Amino acid sequence: MGVFDADSFAGHEEIVFGADPVSGLRTIIAIHSTALGPALGGTRFFPYDTEDDALDDVLRLARAMTLKSAVAGLDLGGGKAVIIGDSRTDKSERLWRAYGRIIDSLQGRYITAEDVGTNHFDMEVIRRETRWVLGVPEPEGGSGDPSPATARGLINAMRAVAEHLWGGGDLAGRRVAVQGVGKVGSNLVRRLVDVGCEVVIADVYAPAAELLVDELGVKQVGVDEVLEVDCDILAPCSLGGALNAATVPRLACRAIVGSANNQLAADEDAAAIATRGILYAPDFVVNAGGLINVYEELRGYEVERARHAIDKVFANTKRVLETAQRTGVTPQQAAVDVAQDRIRKIGNLRLFRRSGDDRN
Ligand code: NAD
Repeated sequence: MGVFDADSFAGHEEIVFGADPVSGLRTIIAIHSTALGPALGGTRFFPYDTEDDALDDVLRLARAMTLKSAVAGLDLGGGKAVIIGDSRTDKSERLWRAYGRIIDSLQGRYITAEDVGTNHFDMEVIRRETRWVLGVPEPEGGSGDPSPATARGLINAMRAVAEHLWGGGDLAGRRVAVQGVGKVGSNLVRRLVDVGCEVVIADVYAPAAELLVDELGVKQVGVDEVLEVDCDILAPCSLGGALNAATVPRLACRAIVGSANNQLAADEDAAAIATRGILYAPDFVVNAGGLINVYEELRGYEVERARHAIDKVFANTKRVLETAQRTGVTPQQAAVDVAQDRIRKIGNLRLFRRSGDDRN
């Protein structure tokens, strides 16, 4: 099947392939939609087995960014970039600057930030070649690592889910299982312990989990067991696809609220989860904290204003859950509907020209 016919293509506006033989850079930048504003989405550095895998991933991730920004109420479209390679060995100043120049050639239609395999120091190097990068370190006037903001948003989403399911947003005493305790997961675990949750964790990288066990006294289980933990909330915070035909029948949670992008391996998994009586709060609604945080950089970053903006994840999650209940669809479908409704209503606002030099 060709690119244009692939399911993951899903109406993309533009796909850019970039390479720099000197540094070994091979990148794909996917601009899914600029209907609501510039396409913002992080750069994923990952050793994909094939170029097809990389293309499929970037297309799926870019579409999710369109939905994420729309539900979060931001003036942003959706995009994403992947770099094919090993983030531990293949990064260099040359690679980042060549990449920055490719981004700059898109003249602001795509804005990048960090994602799996990249960090705010990488963003600082990219900034030397283009201003279309967010999430640079704080001393550079940026918002730094977005992970604490993402974790803050997840707590808000969990409170919204608790209110919806149990009639109160207090998380104290709730049992939460966290799959993956990297940048977001570890921050989330600390916040959960702070508010009085009982936390169970798992990570393929044992030292990451052991650190939290030693420091916080949380319980560690095997990576194969974590999805089966009897708990109130399961938080998938590793890579995508954790919820699939093999894992959904084994789930023993009451709700799912996690940071990983594209948690559902296939669209039909949302229905299978609902049939099991489990509430799945859509990933692109609940993990928007980091995006909201970097978005604040576009108007001059201020931490208090950013926190206030991130806390809107509570209301955004509630609106999606209530829409699902009212219309009788899964929360996943309700979130897509909320996003598309906003894109329809606000996206064509640009028919009203503001001034002669208005590019939007
Ligand atoms: P990370 O790489 O720091 O952490 C991921 C962790 O998951 C690692 O510790 C890794 O060892 C672990 N892991 C991988 N496979 C696993 C498995 N099968 N079982 C258990 N653990 C496993 O990444 P992160 O920045 O914490 O992001 C986590 C997820 O959240 C990603 O999917 C990312 O796209 C998404 N996300 C992150 C942010 C952010 O602000 N960093 C924002 C939105 C979404």
